[in-house]
Amino acid sequence: ETHKETLGFQTEIKQLLNLMIHSLYSNKEIFLRELISNASDAADKLRFEALSDDGLYEGDSNLKIWISFDKEARTITIRDNGIGMSREEVISNIGTIAKSGTQEFFKALTGDQAKDTQLIGQFGVGFYSSFIVADKVTLLTRRAGLASSHGVKWESSGEGDYTIETTEYPQHGTEVTLHLKTEEDEFLSDYRLQGIIRKYSDHITLPIIMPKITTDDKDKNNTTIEEEVVNSAKALWTRAKHEITEEEYTEFYKHVAHDFDAPLTYIHNKVEGSNEYTTLFFIPARAPFDLWDRNNRRGVKLYVRRVFIMDDNEKLLPPYLRFIRGIIDSNDLPLNISREILQHNKQIEAIRSGSVKKILSALENMAKNEPEKYATVWKEFGKVLKEGLVDDYSNKQRIAKLLRFSTTNDDNPVQAISLEDYVGRMKEGQEKIYYITAENFSAAKNSPHLEIFRKKGVEVLLLSDQIDEWLGTHLNEFEGKSLQSVTKGQLDLGHLENEEEKQATAKASDQFKPIVERIKNTLGEKVKEVRVTHRLTTSPACLVADEHAMDASLERLLKSAGQ
Ligand code: ADP
Ligand code: MG
Repeated sequence: ETHKETLGFQTEIKQLLNLMIHSLYSNKEIFLRELISNASDAADKLRFEALSDDGLYEGDSNLKIWISFDKEARTITIRDNGIGMSREEVISNIGTIAKSGTQEFFKALTGDQAKDTQLIGQFGVGFYSSFIVADKVTLLTRRAGLASSHGVKWESSGEGDYTIETTEYPQHGTEVTLHLKTEEDEFLSDYRLQGIIRKYSDHITLPIIMPKITTDDKDKNNTTIEEEVVNSAKALWTRAKHEITEEEYTEFYKHVAHDFDAPLTYIHNKVEGSNEYTTLFFIPARAPFDLWDRNNRRGVKLYVRRVFIMDDNEKLLPPYLRFIRGIIDSNDLPLNISREILQHNKQIEAIRSGSVKKILSALENMAKNEPEKYATVWKEFGKVLKEGLVDDYSNKQRIAKLLRFSTTNDDNPVQAISLEDYVGRMKEGQEKIYYITAENFSAAKNSPHLEIFRKKGVEVLLLSDQIDEWLGTHLNEFEGKSLQSVTKGQLDLGHLENEEEKQATAKASDQFKPIVERIKNTLGEKVKEVRVTHRLTTSPACLVADEHAMDASLERLLKSAGQ
């Protein structure tokens, strides 16, 4: 069908456009960065698909990005010879936001401009940022491999709908033309556009080209147009660390991570020897809204000798490090490596475990030397990092050291206490690390099970994240101290109890025998046992699980999971 149709944007896009136009007004120039970033991604995708079918290049494997402007028409055009899009792809990629968590994101908007501006960075605005400076955007594209009659023209004024029609388009790739708003003429300038490209897109590995028009001094009508490469087009990670500025790292991060904000830190390493590779990892300053979507593939990108191969989380880094962004560039892997090969490749395994070690040591250093920064990491990614206790047996003790908890030491809901802190102030005679799990912080903090511990001044970890239910089972010990739930079994405080207390309990047990019997008879089958305890100081009674039974809150978790 070549027919022209008018389609409405998804409601979320309308909201996004509206919000963006108002909130990004002070930083308009980033539209160019976003469009260049997309062109570069499109080239990466074509290179990857062409590994198994080089006919897709259509004889044109010299991938580039061209930028030009037309003063009279008041337009800027960004063109690439990357993968391009089919009609269906344009509709689904440009007309809808498929990212999971989109609805939640829009629910989180407050209507307060300042707050929402913060949020929008987290969401990433990408292609739609064109509408900050343009009142009409025309996109022409054709997917590599399709006939030239399968070109697509998409056009919108960013207001509620767009038109789409099938058209002739000779080359594969995409071309985006921005029809500038009246007040945006400043962008119709070589100087201005080149400045923006160098500032934000220097790290893009493809040449970004602008036409250079020279006029003959003698004959004003004799002009020649040359192609001028504006960026340095060199992979950032191949350069020496000391030559790379903080700003360059930041702009590169924004591109690979599709993030609007600067990262918290970066970790750049070259590994030499029989398996040579370079890694450049970033820790974002904020969790993306789709952090819990295990299908999201935006983690670390794999390159082989600077050629993009694929985005993949699981093979390159374990799921508990899925918040890490960046690249791995191998010198030794074959260029035609497939996902299947990746699965059982020794070199990839070595790269993966080396990368995990690098990231864990960076986190350890940060925890030690920049505790405030580490507090941010923990706040944003702590729950994900905890999965490592379950998933990564070989690094369990290192991960355990990185954990931060709320405890009865200060009853603070902010998780800031390490197991080392805890062990360092264990009471004389205390042999175990005590913890309690509950549905939320306040339930944990107010549990009657803590009464005896508070009385004796013994610190207890207050656990209330869902994943904590597994902590007790997977982290049996830390530095030789076993972990003990305070809600399970007979409370054995070991050397924390003196003889007198033990005798008092025994005596009380005798004294209260008749009433215990009565309670047992009344409750019947509902309980296994009723006993006198010294674990309470003010509450009259509490429920305790059997030593080998499931923790009460784990039981709740499994029930809610339908097991
Ligand atoms: P993101 O880049 O974070 O996915 P964008 O809004 O920037 O979000 O782009 C949306 C989608 O549109 C891209 O994921 C891609 O599928 C498609 N797209 C945008 N620009 C191009 C382009 N130049 N070539 C091919 N596809 C593109
Ligand atoms: Mg983009």
